[in-house]
Amino acid sequence: MSAKIIDGVALSGKVRDAWRDRVRALEACGVRPALAVLLVGAHSASRVYVRNKTAAARDLGMRSDLIELAGSTSERALLDRIAALNGDPAVHGILVQLPLPKHIAVRSVIEAIAPEKDVDGFHPYNVGLLVAGHPRFAPCTPAGVMEMLEAEGVDPWAKRAVIVGASNIVGKPMALLLLQKGATVTICNSKTKDLGAHTSAAEILVVAVGKPNMITRDLVRPGAAVIDVGINRLPDGTLCGDVEFRSVREVAGWITPVPGGVGPMTVTMLLVNTIRAAEDALARVADVERV
Ligand code: NDP
Repeated sequence: MSAKIIDGVALSGKVRDAWRDRVRALEACGVRPALAVLLVGAHSASRVYVRNKTAAARDLGMRSDLIELAGSTSERALLDRIAALNGDPAVHGILVQLPLPKHIAVRSVIEAIAPEKDVDGFHPYNVGLLVAGHPRFAPCTPAGVMEMLEAEGVDPWAKRAVIVGASNIVGKPMALLLLQKGATVTICNSKTKDLGAHTSAAEILVVAVGKPNMITRDLVRPGAAVIDVGINRLPDGTLCGDVEFRSVREVAGWITPVPGGVGPMTVTMLLVNTIRAAEDALARVADVERV
């Protein structure tokens, strides 16, 4: 058996086309969805990611401002820039590209973003909404994975889902989204004993660790939906995921490639969250005018 490859580029195109109409509808009301992306320092991978995000937003007819700050920028100066964007009604989404230079506390920065503009979904208020079961902005990577599963007809209801990796931006929110869709969820981390005992029981396996090819075919249940979030650059410059694609595709039911899998869906869900933020902002203005 050879797994069905879930094409994140093709699905991204479909989802973006569906949301293009909502951008047009907002424009008809005089609102152009706008995303501000803050990049601090010259981290080369981050530079590529932010360019992809801003270009994708513009392609959808949105406004996208890339604000590049020197690596020496102080935490105070960054917080001031965020405060200015929070107060700008023409900006609907604010994203601070991670990682940040070591002298800046990530937590302070995330907590400084107005929750209604936190399109990455990392602010504790939005995390709380997600935990409570009614997410406003689900973090983009797990949200993209849910879209992929839905598009393939993989319903998490009553399925065993295993997440390898427990970060705040991928593993934990992924687990919550799957739980809300009725899956029985296990989260594994670096301390997990006998990882294979967990992964080989998974009907849905999501891997987000950052270790090239760590999941091999012997760790995968035949027929499973295997979602590879990992992005690793090998010494020869090529990209690979956390899943050994060549061997796992022979046993899995579905598999995502790297590149061309989860990555494009992450960008797409960022655009979706920003359009939602613009729609919410417009609704708030309408509410005020009604009073
Ligand atoms: P983090 O480094 O924040 O988290 C990694 C997680 O993996 C931790 O929870 C860690 O456990 C766990 N882990 C480490 N080693 C093992 C192991 N041997 N067995 C089980 N779990 C282990 O990474 P991120 O979540 O930020 O990113 C993970 C990967 O996903 C990276 O390759 C990153 O580049 C990629 N990524 C891809 C995105 C996309 O759009 N495709 C978006 C975001 C990330 P512990 O908690 O114990 O330390």
